[in-house]
Amino acid sequence: MICETRVVTRRIARLAAILIVLMVLGALAGAQAKSPAAKPPKTPPRPKLVVLLVVDQMRADYVDKFRGQWTGGLKRLVEEGAWFRDAAYPYAATETCAGHATISTGTLPATHGMISNEWFDRELQETVTCTDDSKVKNLGYAGAGVTGGNSASKMLVPALADELKFQTGSGTSVVTFSLKARAAITMGGRLGDAVTWFDADVGAWTTSSAYPVAAFVEEFTKAHPAAGDYGKTWAPMLPASAYLYDATATGAVPPAGLGAAFPHPLRGNPDSTGPDPVFYCQWETSPYADTYLTRIAETAVDKLELGARAGTDFLAVSYSSVDYVGHAFGLRSWEIQDVLARLDHDLAELFAHLDKKVGRGNYVVALSADHGVVPIPEDIQKSGMDAGWLNVESVKERIEKSLEPFNYAKPAVAKVGARAVYFTPGTYDKLKNDPAALRAVLEAIQSVPGVAHVYRAEELEDRPSTQSPMLKAEAASFLKARSGDLLIVPKPYWPWDSSTPTSPRQYGTTHGTPNYYDQRVPVLLMGFGVQPGEYFQAITPTDIAPTLAVLCGITLAPRDGRVLGEALKNSSARPVTPRPARAAPPKQP
Ligand SMILES: [Zn+2]
Ligand SMILES: [Zn+2]
Repeated sequence: MICETRVVTRRIARLAAILIVLMVLGALAGAQAKSPAAKPPKTPPRPKLVVLLVVDQMRADYVDKFRGQWTGGLKRLVEEGAWFRDAAYPYAATETCAGHATISTGTLPATHGMISNEWFDRELQETVTCTDDSKVKNLGYAGAGVTGGNSASKMLVPALADELKFQTGSGTSVVTFSLKARAAITMGGRLGDAVTWFDADVGAWTTSSAYPVAAFVEEFTKAHPAAGDYGKTWAPMLPASAYLYDATATGAVPPAGLGAAFPHPLRGNPDSTGPDPVFYCQWETSPYADTYLTRIAETAVDKLELGARAGTDFLAVSYSSVDYVGHAFGLRSWEIQDVLARLDHDLAELFAHLDKKVGRGNYVVALSADHGVVPIPEDIQKSGMDAGWLNVESVKERIEKSLEPFNYAKPAVAKVGARAVYFTPGTYDKLKNDPAALRAVLEAIQSVPGVAHVYRAEELEDRPSTQSPMLKAEAASFLKARSGDLLIVPKPYWPWDSSTPTSPRQYGTTHGTPNYYDQRVPVLLMGFGVQPGEYFQAITPTDIAPTLAVLCGITLAPRDGRVLGEALKNSSARPVTPRPARAAPPKQP
């Protein structure tokens, strides 16, 4: 009986075990059947926020020369980010509007159409800026009266920010700031939610009717007017021994009242008792404007909860003061080192803010510049190298004179802007069929001191295949409807001087040529999806937007750049199988 009882007990136990197994299997099957309905579909990881930073006129070699002076955000980008050490624009018109539009769209000026800061409009027979738009009205924040109208209507392709907003469909906010309209607008595209720039004539933060008026910008600018910095004195932040070069830069042309060397008082006209347009120009040429842009960007993060919602938001800041300081004092100045050292502090604060609000690693930063700059010619001349100024007025005068022996109406030239000659209506068509007159014009231009090459428009159309890097660069900047009839390339270290006998030159140095010093810029990526390191491949800033686009899972319309795949981590959606650990090598005796 005992045995029977045991057998019965064992049978019962076996049945119970089978039942338990069946129940477990059933539960598992049920759970599997339920899982697709219970869990939402897996969304591949995306950055919460794209942070695009453009440091206007920052040369790539500033990183090499001055990074010993940095302890903050610029240092962090170099040490924690992917640092591309050979990045350069592949085109000729190295100007602010072209550079920002290139970074923002991933295309060349020949594609995006922002060929320079301004060009001669043949229909209107007047010079227009790249953001002029008579259909919109500028709107000043904090009750300021501003004039004009600016928008992205002349940009021929969408910005990355536009594509992000349209394609993700998850409430992306696009916020951009700069002192310059041409920077804030090209970065913000057509769909920007808060696109803000500074009008130095009236000291007002501005947007236009092309964009929404942002309540947080109104509130911030009312509470913190730029005039709050009136009366400050910009003094060196670092000990004197930390700066390279002389304390007074050779050939500097500072804004009125700022002085040629430290300390620089920000007090406007000598007889002013409050902020005036001269003060606002001084303020733009000081580190205080960079700090202001950083604070308002942080406020945008807080007020709009950027990076804290479902989609990927977009925040762009173009720091314009490095450009103003560079134009005034040049690249071998204490001022350029100081404005960068202070920007390094501002960026440390911005990144700390983003770490706290968005989370370290949840946002991706791309920092670059819109162009470089040439050394001050008078400074180079001291060393005995060939340098000088290429005078715009001389070009115009010599062309008119060269046509005197031929049968041409005066004036033949409608406009000589930096780089380009535009003839009066019909003149260039006539010249093309008049070889002797055209030769005379070309020889006249070549005779102006500082001219290296002159290209005719028809040589640059449709991006010809060529071995000449200069022709290729000119063609990448060329758009028939907007570009000049003749394009002039200056010799190295011969920047354009656009002063006239009645208006002396307003700057110490400038940029805007196809020389490498104008084309070469830093490109630094950091954060979400970025593989840190130093990268020596030759790249261009057209690669920034396609790279950010791939991280965000979107596709650009056209692109001239490529994805910087070498600096991206493998997607966590496709985990890479870890390699088996290698056996430790035998210890050396
Ligand atoms: Zn610029
Ligand atoms: Zn500039």
